[in-house]
Amino acid sequence: MDTPYYFYDLGLLRRTLEAVRSEADAFNFRVHYALKANSNPKLLSIIRAYNLGADCVSGNEIARALEVGFAPPDIVFAGVGKTDAEIAYGLNHDIFCFNCESLQELEVIDAIAASLGKCANVALRINPNIDAETHHHITTGLNDNKFGIGIGDLGEACDLARRLTHIKMNAIHLHVGSQITNFSVFFDLCVCVNELQRFFEQQNIVLEHINLGGGLGVDYLEPDTHAIADFRGYFSLFDKALERRKNQQVHFELGRSIVAQCGSLMSRVLYVKKTQATEFVVIDAGMTELLRPALYQAVHLIENISRVGEANERKYNIVGPICESSDCFGKDVSLPKTERGDLIAIRSTGAYGETMASEYNLRSKAKAFYSPEP
Ligand SMILES: *Cc1c(COP(=O)(O)O)cnc(C)c1O
Repeated sequence: MDTPYYFYDLGLLRRTLEAVRSEADAFNFRVHYALKANSNPKLLSIIRAYNLGADCVSGNEIARALEVGFAPPDIVFAGVGKTDAEIAYGLNHDIFCFNCESLQELEVIDAIAASLGKCANVALRINPNIDAETHHHITTGLNDNKFGIGIGDLGEACDLARRLTHIKMNAIHLHVGSQITNFSVFFDLCVCVNELQRFFEQQNIVLEHINLGGGLGVDYLEPDTHAIADFRGYFSLFDKALERRKNQQVHFELGRSIVAQCGSLMSRVLYVKKTQATEFVVIDAGMTELLRPALYQAVHLIENISRVGEANERKYNIVGPICESSDCFGKDVSLPKTERGDLIAIRSTGAYGETMASEYNLRSKAKAFYSPEP
């Protein structure tokens, strides 16, 4: 097989989906899969078969979700910069809900809905000013992040929603960040939502839906020990800490925790290069196939598949071929003595790997391969 390529373990994907479903179903929680984590159609059709909804952040993601069979009432549309064309597209397909990120967006959705003779379901995306304690590039719920409507502007948002006749604001949405491993962040989120519920009750706005976003982290260092995220701990925390109202549907938007561990980026060693300072392993995958390390210093487990079990370990800097110094997958990575032609696996790349690929340096798009299915 030509390297680099994305390898997907569909059995692990299915086991993960079974776990998500059973743990979420126990509390009657609704899970939408965040397409931006991985929108590979083969993976999507499996995810769809487990009856998850879809969380989309662009018109093209809505189109992809529809193509693979997600039903419009199962599709939510988030994003801080929805274009008029994307809003119209969502309205024309009668998607379930727009997660609305500003007062101006409420007015724009209302106007477009009016022109199409529609009424849009809207969830107000609220910025709760909670620190997700994750990398600052994937923190979204602090006051200086671009996402959502600040708590101070909620009164105005409610007044506006009451005036506008082509939106129905019956939900709130919060997503505070990604790769969250400290569960106290989710607890703080619940405390905030409990307060928000009282605020909206005072405003006489009935919240039929609460959408708590995604963000559940995965174990990038020990993907085999923790192949499936702690969905039970995650959902049961929300069940305990959230003051749910009668007939209220609670939604989540999980991306990473569903697909990260089922993917590996497979690559060959092109060169082993010793310098005064260090020893480099130059592989044929780069930041064009996996941007996370360059973009937010993400760490992935790296394995030499050609030398499993060999003991003579050394420390290498694992780098790609792209003309950028940030094109580095790991420093001081312990691998058995590595040689040109060895097959290298970069683990846990199922989320934000293939979807963030680029053609920088005029690279060809890496293909995907899948484990055989029964
Ligand atoms: C990215 C994103 C998600 C998914 O986040 P994960 O960390 O992959 O679970 C959910 N909701 C919104 C609004 C997002 O932007």
